Formats: sequence, structure tokens, C-alpha cells
Amino acid sequence: MINQPVSEAEIQKDIITRATYRGWLVKRVNSGSFQHHRFGSGRTAGLPDLICVKRGVCAFIEVKDGKGKLRPDQVQWFEAVVGHAVALDFRGAFVSGNFRAGVCDTWEGALEILEGRIIERGE
Ligand SMILES: [Mg+2]
Repeated sequence: MINQPVSEAEIQKDIITRATYRGWLVKRVNSGSFQHHRFGSGRTAGLPDLICVKRGVCAFIEVKDGKGKLRPDQVQWFEAVVGHAVALDFRGAFVSGNFRAGVCDTWEGALEILEGRIIERGE
């Protein structure tokens, strides 16, 4: 599709803009070198790209362009949020109480995570 965001950074920016418009408070977490300060900032390695909160709901969104897969440290964060094992190639959304977590490569995918519309697609 013409004008569809393509790079991960562009996808993240698109999600931030659209989620903010819909009332979500969004924090972009992983933007470069501070990820390496693993313990000075807590266990930031693997933390999902975007943390979104609205009306008592907290959503963790990992943006992966193309066929990018989760890394083990990212899986560790997802498993901590959802409370069970998560596959490296997972795409879709988990819902666990007031927490949501998912992996996407488009705004549409992010919206499914935010709204908890897809539950455990994939493994
Ligand atoms: Mg990412």
C-alpha cells in the first residue's frame, strides 16, 4: 500500500500518534544505547518497544518489521506479563487481566493488542 510505514521506527511513530489520538498514554521505551544500562535502569534489555496505558489497562507492544522474531530477553518480558510460555515467533496479542502484550508490524496489529481483540494467535 502506498504511504504505508515500513521501517520499525516509522511503524512505532505511527502507532504512537494513533494510540495517543485514541487516548492512550504511550511511552516509547527502547531507543538505542540506554538499553545497555541493564541494571542502572533496571532490567531494560528485552523490554517491549511501547508501553501504553489507558483506563486501568496496560499494554506492552513489541514492534517487529518483516519477519523479525522475538529475542530471548524479549520473550522473558512477555512471559512475565502474561504468566506463561511465549514462542519466539509469536505474532498477535495476549490478554492477562488488565495487561495486554503483543507483537505487531502495523498500526492495525497494535490496535488489536490495545483492544485485546486477538487472544493468543500463533503459539
Ligand atoms: Mg522492536
